[in-house]
Amino acid sequence: MTELTDLQFDQQHIWHPYTSMTQPLPAFKVKKAYGATIELEDGRQLIDGMSSWWCAIHGYNHPELNQAAIDQLQNMSHIMFGGLTHDPAIQLAKVLLEITPPNLTKIFYADSGSVAVEVALKMAVQYWASLGKKEKSNFVTPRSGYHGDTWNAMSVCDPVTGMHQIFGSSLPNRIFVPAPQTAFDEAWNPEDIKDLEQTLAQHYASIAGLIIEPIVQGAGGMRFYHPEYLRQAKLLCEKYQILLIFDEIATGFGRTGKLFAWEWAGVEPDIMCIGKGLTGGYMTLSAALTSTQVAETISQGEAGVFMHGPTFMANPLACAVALKSTQLLLSQDWQANISRIERQLQQGLFPLSDLEHVQNVRVLGAIGVVELKHDVDIKSLQQEFVRRGIWVRPFGKLVYVMPPYIISEQELKTLLEQLADVVKNMEQAG
Ligand SMILES: *Cc1c(COP(=O)(O)O)cnc(C)c1O
Repeated sequence: MTELTDLQFDQQHIWHPYTSMTQPLPAFKVKKAYGATIELEDGRQLIDGMSSWWCAIHGYNHPELNQAAIDQLQNMSHIMFGGLTHDPAIQLAKVLLEITPPNLTKIFYADSGSVAVEVALKMAVQYWASLGKKEKSNFVTPRSGYHGDTWNAMSVCDPVTGMHQIFGSSLPNRIFVPAPQTAFDEAWNPEDIKDLEQTLAQHYASIAGLIIEPIVQGAGGMRFYHPEYLRQAKLLCEKYQILLIFDEIATGFGRTGKLFAWEWAGVEPDIMCIGKGLTGGYMTLSAALTSTQVAETISQGEAGVFMHGPTFMANPLACAVALKSTQLLLSQDWQANISRIERQLQQGLFPLSDLEHVQNVRVLGAIGVVELKHDVDIKSLQQEFVRRGIWVRPFGKLVYVMPPYIISEQELKTLLEQLADVVKNMEQAG
């Protein structure tokens, strides 16, 4: 038997996200990462345009986050949360409840974004059950959404780009409305809310909650929609007695130019999920936050408790780093910094909208999206980006960047120049 190189072993034995085990896309081996730089095993340095999927807001290997982890390790890495509590969970909760919608007063820690979504959906169902309305157990959600890969999170993802075809009837049947159509910066079109209105009027008796990513639909299409949609949705939820659930797992911690995207609309949800950027990309941690009313109703219901309790709930190491990461963000003029990134993204990407094969270019906060007319060849594009020293991971028709906030002007300039060049060359290629 010939000895496998590590990369061959990886290819043959280790599953990567959304890939085949027989025809895996090539993976590049990373030695280390620091700031906005990803260093490959062979010494090549890539400028990071992805923040490891929205997470690494302060860049990699940040001395203060490292120190927070080291300090916490010396006390305890983990301790069960049943019957015990600790400072990292308490101090983090104080900060999070301070910076999220004022009506949210209770926090449930979970271990990943998808699990926070599961928790939020369970809260909504238990809420109505506690009020004697067990029939209110389904969910309504706009198309083009993404809420994670666990079972119920999957069921509220876009039914076309999501995994509904594969999992078919094993997924609960959710109620879908068209994705919001009015773009973030267009004039609001009142027709945009009509489908939701009709759907709620028809199905409200069976609906526990409306789940939606506020302002930015992320992995379901990187769409930026009008804040008025959320204000109208909130009014409808009140009228038809439906809980409003915001999934801020991608949009949180400054990414859209507000600390959390609900602020664009000024609409408070009944339940909110956070994750991803929460620990600055160090560890997996998420939370579902809710109001006193929802929490008390659940607690006074038949079960008397909320039925969830992950083993690694409120992991102290993750909470300690999350606390430091959030403090670090709040201690800076992060708004000015996001505006700087936004301006550079506009300058670097908007000229691409003139290209024949480009459908649309959009920028919001520290998110820049180039939507092409056709699906891209991820494998060849990925290799070309790496060859040019940048890390950008396209999907479908989308080439997009959401760099770490610490990216320098020069790094961002290079990232965008190289990205633009690759997109331009795609036209020549065909
Ligand atoms: C990534 C994401 C999730 C799922 O989070 P995981 O940590 O991957 O489970 C849920 N909702 C949104 C909006 C996301 O972007």
